[in-house]
Amino acid sequence: MRRNLVIGNWKMKVNHQSAQKLVDDLIAGLSVEDADLAVCPPFLYIPEVCQRLAETSISCGAQNVATHAEGAYTGEIAAVMLKDFNCKYAIVGHSERRANYADTDTSVAQRFQQALESNITPVLAIGELLEDREQGVTFDIVAKQLNAVIDFAGIESFKNAVIAYEPVWAIGTGLTASAEQAQEVHLYIRQLLAEKDQQIADNIQIIYGGSVKPQNAEALFAMPDIDGALVGGDSLSADSFLKIYSSFQK
Ligand code: PEP
Repeated sequence: MRRNLVIGNWKMKVNHQSAQKLVDDLIAGLSVEDADLAVCPPFLYIPEVCQRLAETSISCGAQNVATHAEGAYTGEIAAVMLKDFNCKYAIVGHSERRANYADTDTSVAQRFQQALESNITPVLAIGELLEDREQGVTFDIVAKQLNAVIDFAGIESFKNAVIAYEPVWAIGTGLTASAEQAQEVHLYIRQLLAEKDQQIADNIQIIYGGSVKPQNAEALFAMPDIDGALVGGDSLSADSFLKIYSSFQK
Protein backbone atom coordinates (compact mmCIF):
# COMPACT_ATOMS: atom_id res chain seq x y z
CA MET A 1 0.00 0.00 0.00
CA ARG A 2 1.53 3.32 -1.06
CA ARG A 3 1.43 6.20 1.42
CA ASN A 4 0.26 9.52 0.12
CA LEU A 5 2.65 12.44 0.07
CA VAL A 6 1.91 16.16 -0.03
CA ILE A 7 4.81 18.55 -0.68
CA GLY A 8 4.66 22.34 -0.54
CA ASN A 9 6.92 24.27 -2.92
CA TRP A 10 7.31 27.76 -1.46
CA LYS A 11 9.29 28.92 -4.51
CA MET A 12 10.69 32.46 -3.95
CA LYS A 13 7.46 33.62 -2.35
CA VAL A 14 8.29 33.87 1.36
CA ASN A 15 10.55 36.11 3.41
CA HIS A 16 12.17 35.29 6.74
CA GLN A 17 9.17 36.41 8.76
CA SER A 18 6.47 34.80 6.63
CA ALA A 19 8.46 31.54 6.47
CA GLN A 20 8.64 31.43 10.28
CA LYS A 21 4.93 32.12 10.58
CA LEU A 22 4.05 29.48 8.01
CA VAL A 23 6.05 26.86 9.91
CA ASP A 24 4.41 27.84 13.20
CA ASP A 25 0.94 27.68 11.64
CA LEU A 26 1.64 24.30 10.07
CA ILE A 27 2.90 22.83 13.33
CA ALA A 28 -0.07 24.26 15.23
CA GLY A 29 -2.64 23.12 12.65
CA LEU A 30 -1.41 19.61 11.93
CA SER A 31 -3.70 17.00 13.42
CA VAL A 32 -4.11 13.86 11.31
CA GLU A 33 -0.89 12.21 10.20
CA ASP A 34 -1.70 9.34 7.90
CA ALA A 35 0.13 10.72 4.90
CA ASP A 36 3.60 12.15 4.41
CA LEU A 37 3.94 15.93 4.50
CA ALA A 38 6.90 18.10 3.47
CA VAL A 39 7.76 21.69 2.64
CA CYS A 40 10.47 23.06 0.36
CA PRO A 41 11.56 26.55 1.46
CA PRO A 42 14.09 28.71 -0.41
CA PHE A 43 17.64 27.48 0.27
CA LEU A 44 18.47 30.31 2.67
CA TYR A 45 15.67 29.38 5.06
CA ILE A 46 16.30 25.63 4.99
CA PRO A 47 18.52 25.48 8.12
CA GLU A 48 15.99 27.27 10.29
CA VAL A 49 12.87 25.64 8.85
CA CYS A 50 14.36 22.14 8.98
CA GLN A 51 15.45 22.67 12.56
CA ARG A 52 11.99 23.80 13.60
CA LEU A 53 10.41 20.82 11.89
CA ALA A 54 12.90 18.31 13.28
CA GLU A 55 10.65 17.23 16.17
CA THR A 56 7.52 17.05 14.00
CA SER A 57 6.25 14.66 11.36
CA ILE A 58 6.68 17.33 8.67
CA SER A 59 9.75 16.84 6.49
CA CYS A 60 11.93 19.40 4.83
CA GLY A 61 13.04 19.52 1.22
CA ALA A 62 14.85 21.70 -1.29
CA GLN A 63 13.57 23.18 -4.52
CA ASN A 64 16.66 22.16 -6.48
CA VAL A 65 20.10 20.59 -6.03
CA ALA A 66 23.42 20.99 -7.84
CA THR A 67 24.45 18.74 -10.71
CA HIS A 68 27.81 18.03 -9.06
CA ALA A 69 28.97 16.94 -5.61
CA GLU A 70 31.47 19.77 -5.08
CA GLY A 71 33.80 22.12 -6.92
CA ALA A 72 33.89 25.43 -8.74
CA TYR A 73 30.15 25.90 -9.22
CA THR A 74 29.48 29.44 -8.06
CA GLY A 75 26.03 29.91 -6.58
CA GLU A 76 25.14 26.21 -6.46
CA ILE A 77 24.06 24.13 -3.44
CA ALA A 78 25.32 20.54 -3.27
CA ALA A 79 23.25 17.60 -2.09
CA VAL A 80 25.63 16.92 0.78
CA MET A 81 25.01 20.47 2.06
CA LEU A 82 21.26 19.85 2.03
CA LYS A 83 21.81 16.60 3.88
CA ASP A 84 23.77 18.51 6.55
CA PHE A 85 20.49 20.29 7.34
CA ASN A 86 18.36 17.17 7.27
CA CYS A 87 16.64 17.67 3.93
CA LYS A 88 14.66 14.57 3.07
CA TYR A 89 13.58 15.59 -0.45
CA ALA A 90 14.90 17.64 -3.36
CA ILE A 91 12.73 18.66 -6.29
CA VAL A 92 14.58 18.18 -9.58
CA GLY A 93 13.41 19.25 -13.02
CA HIS A 94 10.71 21.69 -11.98
CA SER A 95 9.33 23.27 -15.16
CA GLU A 96 10.31 26.76 -13.95
CA ARG A 97 13.92 25.61 -13.85
CA ARG A 98 13.66 23.85 -17.19
CA ALA A 99 12.12 26.96 -18.77
CA ASN A 100 14.06 29.78 -17.05
CA TYR A 101 17.38 28.25 -16.00
CA ALA A 102 18.14 26.02 -18.96
CA ASP A 103 17.69 22.74 -17.11
CA THR A 104 17.82 19.87 -19.61
CA ASP A 105 16.92 16.21 -19.35
CA THR A 106 20.64 15.55 -18.79
CA SER A 107 21.16 18.12 -16.03
CA VAL A 108 17.93 16.98 -14.36
CA ALA A 109 19.24 13.40 -14.41
CA GLN A 110 22.52 14.59 -12.85
CA ARG A 111 20.63 16.42 -10.08
CA PHE A 112 18.49 13.30 -9.50
CA GLN A 113 21.63 11.19 -9.12
CA GLN A 114 23.31 13.71 -6.82
CA ALA A 115 20.31 13.74 -4.49
CA LEU A 116 20.30 9.96 -4.29
CA GLU A 117 24.02 9.80 -3.56
CA SER A 118 23.39 11.92 -0.44
CA ASN A 119 20.40 9.83 0.62
CA ILE A 120 17.97 12.55 -0.36
CA THR A 121 14.82 11.45 -2.16
CA PRO A 122 14.63 13.19 -5.54
CA VAL A 123 11.18 14.42 -6.55
CA LEU A 124 11.43 14.23 -10.33
CA ALA A 125 9.09 16.77 -11.94
CA ILE A 126 7.95 15.99 -15.47
CA GLY A 127 5.12 17.29 -17.60
CA GLU A 128 4.05 18.64 -20.95
CA LEU A 129 3.49 22.18 -22.24
CA LEU A 130 0.06 23.26 -23.39
CA GLU A 131 1.15 23.01 -27.03
CA ASP A 132 2.33 19.43 -26.44
CA ARG A 133 -1.09 18.50 -25.09
CA GLU A 134 -2.83 20.23 -27.99
CA GLN A 135 -0.63 18.34 -30.44
CA GLY A 136 -1.43 15.06 -28.70
CA VAL A 137 2.17 14.32 -27.66
CA THR A 138 1.76 14.41 -23.86
CA PHE A 139 2.77 10.77 -23.42
CA ASP A 140 5.81 11.20 -25.70
CA ILE A 141 7.06 14.19 -23.69
CA VAL A 142 6.55 12.49 -20.34
CA ALA A 143 8.26 9.31 -21.61
CA LYS A 144 11.23 11.29 -22.94
CA GLN A 145 11.72 13.15 -19.65
CA LEU A 146 11.38 9.99 -17.59
CA ASN A 147 13.51 7.76 -19.82
CA ALA A 148 16.35 10.30 -19.75
CA VAL A 149 16.61 9.79 -16.00
CA ILE A 150 16.14 6.02 -16.14
CA ASP A 151 18.90 5.76 -18.77
CA PHE A 152 21.26 7.90 -16.68
CA ALA A 153 20.59 6.68 -13.15
CA GLY A 154 19.10 3.20 -13.75
CA ILE A 155 15.66 1.85 -12.94
CA GLU A 156 16.84 0.66 -9.51
CA SER A 157 17.34 4.28 -8.45
CA PHE A 158 13.56 4.76 -8.62
CA LYS A 159 13.24 2.61 -5.49
CA ASN A 160 14.06 5.80 -3.56
CA ALA A 161 12.46 8.45 -5.73
CA VAL A 162 9.17 10.27 -6.14
CA ILE A 163 7.72 11.37 -9.48
CA ALA A 164 5.69 14.57 -9.73
CA TYR A 165 3.54 14.81 -12.83
CA GLU A 166 3.08 18.53 -13.40
CA PRO A 167 1.44 19.62 -16.64
CA VAL A 168 3.17 22.95 -17.25
CA TRP A 169 -0.05 24.63 -18.40
CA ALA A 170 -1.57 23.94 -14.97
CA ILE A 171 1.25 25.38 -12.84
CA GLY A 172 0.37 28.68 -11.23
CA THR A 173 -2.35 29.30 -13.79
CA GLY A 174 -5.44 28.25 -11.87
CA LEU A 175 -6.06 25.67 -14.61
CA THR A 176 -6.01 22.16 -13.20
CA ALA A 177 -5.87 18.94 -15.14
CA SER A 178 -9.11 17.12 -14.47
CA ALA A 179 -8.72 14.17 -12.15
CA GLU A 180 -9.27 11.91 -15.19
CA GLN A 181 -6.63 13.70 -17.28
CA ALA A 182 -4.13 13.44 -14.43
CA GLN A 183 -4.97 9.78 -13.73
CA GLU A 184 -4.44 8.89 -17.39
CA VAL A 185 -0.87 10.23 -17.33
CA HIS A 186 -0.09 8.80 -13.87
CA LEU A 187 -1.17 5.38 -15.07
CA TYR A 188 0.96 5.79 -18.20
CA ILE A 189 4.00 6.68 -16.07
CA ARG A 190 3.40 3.66 -13.83
CA GLN A 191 3.09 1.40 -16.87
CA LEU A 192 6.35 2.74 -18.30
CA LEU A 193 8.11 1.89 -15.05
CA ALA A 194 6.38 -1.51 -14.88
CA GLU A 195 7.91 -2.44 -18.24
CA LYS A 196 11.30 -2.23 -16.48
CA ASP A 197 10.38 -3.26 -12.94
CA GLN A 198 6.91 -4.16 -11.71
CA GLN A 199 7.72 -3.81 -8.02
CA ILE A 200 9.18 -0.34 -8.41
CA ALA A 201 6.14 0.70 -10.44
CA ASP A 202 3.79 -0.61 -7.76
CA ASN A 203 5.63 1.10 -4.90
CA ILE A 204 6.64 4.48 -6.24
CA GLN A 205 4.71 7.56 -5.18
CA ILE A 206 3.51 9.51 -8.23
CA ILE A 207 2.16 12.86 -7.09
CA TYR A 208 0.27 15.46 -9.11
CA GLY A 209 1.10 19.18 -9.31
CA GLY A 210 -0.68 22.03 -11.00
CA SER A 211 -3.02 24.42 -9.17
CA VAL A 212 -4.00 21.87 -6.52
CA LYS A 213 -6.45 23.44 -4.07
CA PRO A 214 -8.72 22.23 -1.28
CA GLN A 215 -11.58 22.32 -3.81
CA ASN A 216 -9.99 19.87 -6.28
CA ALA A 217 -7.77 17.77 -4.00
CA GLU A 218 -10.40 15.20 -3.13
CA ALA A 219 -11.24 14.36 -6.74
CA LEU A 220 -7.54 13.96 -7.54
CA PHE A 221 -6.98 11.82 -4.47
CA ALA A 222 -9.82 9.50 -5.45
CA MET A 223 -7.82 8.39 -8.51
CA PRO A 224 -5.96 5.09 -8.04
CA ASP A 225 -2.59 6.23 -9.40
CA ILE A 226 -2.43 9.67 -7.79
CA ASP A 227 -0.47 9.35 -4.55
CA GLY A 228 -0.47 12.93 -3.37
CA ALA A 229 0.28 16.44 -4.54
CA LEU A 230 3.06 18.94 -5.18
CA VAL A 231 1.52 22.26 -4.23
CA GLY A 232 2.81 25.72 -5.10
CA GLY A 233 0.47 28.66 -4.48
CA ASP A 234 -1.78 26.96 -1.97
CA SER A 235 1.16 25.79 0.15
CA LEU A 236 1.69 29.41 1.24
CA SER A 237 -1.43 29.32 3.36
CA ALA A 238 -1.19 26.82 6.23
CA ASP A 239 -4.96 26.52 6.23
CA SER A 240 -5.26 25.63 2.52
CA PHE A 241 -2.19 23.40 2.58
CA LEU A 242 -3.43 21.41 5.57
CA LYS A 243 -6.87 21.08 3.97
CA ILE A 244 -5.21 19.62 0.87
CA TYR A 245 -3.15 17.34 3.11
CA SER A 246 -6.29 16.13 4.89
CA SER A 247 -7.82 15.22 1.53
CA PHE A 248 -4.91 12.90 0.87
CA GLN A 249 -5.24 10.88 4.07
CA LYS A 250 -5.53 7.15 3.31
C1 PEP B 1 4.46 23.95 -8.56
O1 PEP B 1 5.12 24.98 -8.55
O2 PEP B 1 5.04 22.87 -8.54
C2 PEP B 1 3.01 24.05 -8.58
C3 PEP B 1 2.33 22.96 -8.74
O3 PEP B 1 2.48 25.31 -8.42
P1 PEP B 1 0.91 25.67 -8.26
O4 PEP B 1 0.32 24.74 -7.24
O5 PEP B 1 0.89 27.10 -7.85
O6 PEP B 1 0.29 25.45 -9.62
